[in-house]
Amino acid sequence: MRDFSSDHRWLSLNTATVRKQGNLVEIIEACARQGIRAIDPWRDQVAAVGLDRAVRAVRDAGLELSGYCRGGMFVADAAHRLEARDDNRRAVDEAAALGASCIVLVVGGLPQYSRPGSAASKDIAAARTQVHDGIAEMLEYARGTKLPLAIEPLHPAYAGDRACVNTTRQALDICDALDPQRSGMLGVALDVYHIWWDPELMGQIARAGKDRLLAFHVCDWLVPTKDILNDRGMMGDGVIDIKSVRVAVEAQGYAGYSEIEVFSNDWWSRPMDEVLRICIERHRTAV
Ligand code: ZN
Repeated sequence: MRDFSSDHRWLSLNTATVRKQGNLVEIIEACARQGIRAIDPWRDQVAAVGLDRAVRAVRDAGLELSGYCRGGMFVADAAHRLEARDDNRRAVDEAAALGASCIVLVVGGLPQYSRPGSAASKDIAAARTQVHDGIAEMLEYARGTKLPLAIEPLHPAYAGDRACVNTTRQALDICDALDPQRSGMLGVALDVYHIWWDPELMGQIARAGKDRLLAFHVCDWLVPTKDILNDRGMMGDGVIDIKSVRVAVEAQGYAGYSEIEVFSNDWWSRPMDEVLRICIERHRTAV
């Protein structure tokens, strides 16, 4: 396992971690002040400053992108499916312009939540079929710009609204079905918050192998968790054995960024530079 204890070369900041403290350009400036070398921005943050300005800011700061958040939300009723397809194609184009290493896919839950305005459904099996078909279509498009797609399995608590792919096994089944040749264009984004509890996790990380491990996200699981979406913990404050997961992904050859992604009402209320300093400290001690 790589030694993170004395530098933060492999720390990437998911920019949602400080989304309430500033816009994307201000976040990039703060990363430069703190010597952070990579980010994973969100589409709404890019849109708020404009794609061209975001591209320039990333380039001027010499930042790499450990991912682009996010594509997906494939589940929709018939009237909203084209909208979903076109929206995902735009995400690919934006990610390519920004030089992202992959697009993180949050695949969608039931149609009324995945693509609001869609007719309501309780058919989660149909939702999963649509996810499969949606990723197949997006993969064709993404191959044109050589932009890999990283399926992020989400904790089962989000199956209704955000993602009906809830385990690493499910995500890898999709990868094997759509990209059996392991082209490097389709894989997983493993976020410890979503997968730490899974008794199959270690075996599935070994199954993924280097080709399919496209991103690694860290934060912590607080007990009790007060808000399933916005009460993530800073690494070291919760119950996830983050190091053991990093050992497993690096044993497969993963050598990319360790991306800090903390959605938290608590951390959003603190000054940006203070949050980044603590991210760096915890990256050294708890990741
Ligand atoms: Zn994540």
